[in-house]
Amino acid sequence: MAVVATLLSWVGVGSASAVSPPPDGTRESASDAPIRAHADLVASYTFRATLDPVGHTVRGEGTIHWTNASSVPVSELWVHLYLNAFKNDRSDFLREPILGFRGSAPIQDWGAIDVRTFVMRRPGKESVDLWLHSDLHRKEDEDETDARVPLPTPVLPGEAIDIDVTWDDKLPSILERTGYAGSFHFVGQWFPKIARLEPNGRWAHFPFHRLAEFYSDFGIYDVTVDVPSSFVIGATGPVVERRIEGGRRIERHVQGDVHDFAWSAYDRFDEKEETIDGVDVRVLFPRGYTFDATRELATLRFAIPHFGSLYGRYPYSVLTVVHPPREAAEAGGMEYPTLITTGGAWYAPLFAPMVELVTMHEFGHQYFYGLVATDEVSWPFLDEGVNSYAEEEALEAWLGAGSLGQWSGFTLSDAAVQAVLGNRAEHDEPVAQAAPLFRTGEDYSLLVYERTATILETLRRVYGDEPIRRALGRYARRFRFEHPGPDDLARSFEVEVGARAGDALHAALFNEGWVDYTVSEVSSRSSETAAGIFDRDGKRVTLPRGKNTGGAYEGWVLVTRRGTLSFPVDIELTREDGTTERVRWNAEEASTRIPYHGTVALSGAVVDPEHAVLLDDDLSNNHAAAEAVHRSPRVTERLVYWAELLLQALVP
Ligand SMILES: [Zn+2]
Repeated sequence: MAVVATLLSWVGVGSASAVSPPPDGTRESASDAPIRAHADLVASYTFRATLDPVGHTVRGEGTIHWTNASSVPVSELWVHLYLNAFKNDRSDFLREPILGFRGSAPIQDWGAIDVRTFVMRRPGKESVDLWLHSDLHRKEDEDETDARVPLPTPVLPGEAIDIDVTWDDKLPSILERTGYAGSFHFVGQWFPKIARLEPNGRWAHFPFHRLAEFYSDFGIYDVTVDVPSSFVIGATGPVVERRIEGGRRIERHVQGDVHDFAWSAYDRFDEKEETIDGVDVRVLFPRGYTFDATRELATLRFAIPHFGSLYGRYPYSVLTVVHPPREAAEAGGMEYPTLITTGGAWYAPLFAPMVELVTMHEFGHQYFYGLVATDEVSWPFLDEGVNSYAEEEALEAWLGAGSLGQWSGFTLSDAAVQAVLGNRAEHDEPVAQAAPLFRTGEDYSLLVYERTATILETLRRVYGDEPIRRALGRYARRFRFEHPGPDDLARSFEVEVGARAGDALHAALFNEGWVDYTVSEVSSRSSETAAGIFDRDGKRVTLPRGKNTGGAYEGWVLVTRRGTLSFPVDIELTREDGTTERVRWNAEEASTRIPYHGTVALSGAVVDPEHAVLLDDDLSNNHAAAEAVHRSPRVTERLVYWAELLLQALVP
């Protein structure tokens, strides 16, 4: 999902410089990593869903086909019933004291899912309704989102079972990702869903947490959606059958190689369709929002081929964009396989491209969540963080350095905004931790999204576009239709960028890594001839202090690096006559003293003049003037430097 609200509240301030767009923004990655054509089909669902838009209920029925793809027999299933997060205020979701992240509005109308039957069929064995022995509660806990379902006999590795299931959903008033507002319905997390079984036989099952998203096995979803004929349906996957019957609109959507299915139905949708790079894109939007829909299509015209070139071709034939009406804005900014939700008012101003940003972000999730199906509960940075980087990279490749705005000749980049936001929380807690462990919604947002993006953007600025493109390209291709972890991401960086970059990535993510470069001293004085008492050739002589008349100067620049991270940086020495000289420092040690000899005095020095290290804690100490040439009080100099930094953030 996107944290547009945070960004919107922030636009207008900046302190980081932007860089030029990569010259070859859409070139095929050099990565030759193999790419899978299809996923292993582990959990497949054939359902029929019937909507009552007045009672806001969905009647569900169908079959789950599940294979034990692990290496050990399993004696129980774990089934997520995430609609129960909205059943009462004792659910984990509504109980967790999370502020500072989206979805904080109080619920107006409760929601729930009631499983009626859950009958297992196995070849040669008697059918049995497993729900009779299911356990919806953990001990002394009223949350009902994570059910344990014991099996009468173990399901062996490689063995498949079918489960015939019927259930009833009551949709909540729209909250965060799902529910209704008036006649608009967004139906996500709406069916009994088998948790993911890891290869070692461990169930990755979780109650629905406020700050966490999802994690599932791939399969085929074959879902027939049945709504009143006046409603328009948007859903995962292409339509394979469509008819009007008895006042009802019935559409069957079938999509393989995905791990979720969401749908929306509304009687006031307008739509636009366009084929982009071979993908049938359909935008559903409330009447009057045509301008937003136009902007969403324009974004996807860039995004689909761009992401394809960087991370492998988008493999599905369709993409549906749902732009919720204003009263259902909480359904906006969310991702499901082949279906994304966006947001923004019909009058959303062009000078701050938030409609474009949210569209780019949610489309990016087709890769980092959809195709590279990481565990969003245990490692939220692997989808939201990597995707926030992908979003900023794509926006900059498309819109240039002023990707978030251009006013009166000044520009503001997505990267600059994310850097400032991410650095605010860097010392609070680690980036790489499970979603429910974050102490506040603000930390979650700043660290998982912005800090991760800033770490990756720093690596790009320090090591260059091409190595970082290869690293992420390798990762996205190698792990398409798989479930990688943090080590797999780090390994891609080690291979494509080097061990040092891999180490920095790991430390920044796991160890609250930080860095602060400082120019500690700049000394430059006229070379003096020797002065004092000397014993030379058997005689003692005293040489007077005298001025050098040859115009020679000598001195040094002392640069230090504090913190646990290190990146190679440039140091720029400036002379009194305005000329400059650059020195590269590998910064593996904590400090360096750069000797200076020249015919002109040094006036100052700055470390990392391009601001490649967006992670730098404190920019005000990156510059110092020569001790010998102070012409203004230190405090004035600091103010001048801050003014320069502000101007750098808003590069003309
Ligand atoms: Zn997101």
